[in-house]
Amino acid sequence: MKLVDKFRKMGVRTNADNPIDAQKAIDFGAEGIGLFRIEHMFYGENSEKPLEKLRNMILANTRDERVAALDELEPYIRESAKGTLKVMDGKPLTFRLMDPPLHEFAPQGEEKMKEAAKRIGISYEDVKKRVDGLHEVNPMMGLRGVRLGIIYPEITRVQFRALFSATCELMKEGYHPMLEIMVPLTINAAELKHQKAIANEVKEEVEKKYGQKFEYKFGTMIEIPRAALVANQIAEVAEFFSFGTNDLTQMTFGFSRDDVNAIVKTYVDEKIIPADPFNSFDRECVGELVKIGIERGRSTRTNLKCGVCGEHGGDPTAAEFFYKAGMNYVSCSPFRVPVARLAAAQAAIKEAREK
Ligand code: PEP
Ligand code: MG
Repeated sequence: MKLVDKFRKMGVRTNADNPIDAQKAIDFGAEGIGLFRIEHMFYGENSEKPLEKLRNMILANTRDERVAALDELEPYIRESAKGTLKVMDGKPLTFRLMDPPLHEFAPQGEEKMKEAAKRIGISYEDVKKRVDGLHEVNPMMGLRGVRLGIIYPEITRVQFRALFSATCELMKEGYHPMLEIMVPLTINAAELKHQKAIANEVKEEVEKKYGQKFEYKFGTMIEIPRAALVANQIAEVAEFFSFGTNDLTQMTFGFSRDDVNAIVKTYVDEKIIPADPFNSFDRECVGELVKIGIERGRSTRTNLKCGVCGEHGGDPTAAEFFYKAGMNYVSCSPFRVPVARLAAAQAAIKEAREK
């Protein structure tokens, strides 16, 4: 692997959202975290408490109720980020603002709804009404990503506050957190300006509270074709791009990630498409959008850092494409890091030979 790193030019990061995975990835040679999904805090071990707070927030009827629930959620976000930032000391960690449709986390079934009703102090019927109200016909294209933070700015605010506080606390403890925050599912620069204004306010507030100045990077995911096309405008606000090729594939093909398996199988069997584009990167069109996004982004911000954090980041057969497109790094799950390093080195060697 030392030999590999001598030739490699493209960086390799990891997708990780807890200290154990982060450490595993570092041991495998990851140079940072390219995608930290905060939603993972609401699944699996130790998720009951934060999930409860999140549910209170989702079921809130008024802004005040929502803010109260978010205030209770804040320490969990702060501690979650802090734990992984600590392990990543001196290496960048890209935190993605909350992304999924809220109804994914709403209490499901009578028992869970009754539990929530008791906790919040409202009737079961009220809980059911609120959960039903969250229903969307097409949630993948509904209230998720940055839209959540535009409709409910308080959701963005609490995340910035938690992350900035974690950064200040770690700095005071002698660590070197390198925080990057990215906004998901962006379609234009105005969305980013909206979110950045919140970040600016919260940064000032947190710096004052801790008596500690800090730096962070503000960026966006590029995962909707529109964003790639207006990347020049988006790069006026975003300091970095991370290509979410899972959604970019979904939105380019118009294939729902959640429902398309059977269709894709037939399409591949009938040779209508060469492979499942969610597994095997579609260079022809999704790739074209990636190239356009990088080129247009760098036309306004020459030093724009670009990475890929969709599943394709760990696909060694796509590494050469990403390298040639000008990607600064790929980000993949911890166990794929060594292969990604090797593939990145091979891409650099191949290019040198071609020249
Ligand atoms: C993506 O869309 O490529 C991505 C990394 O985000 P998610 O899979 O969480 O939507
Ligand atoms: Mg996505």
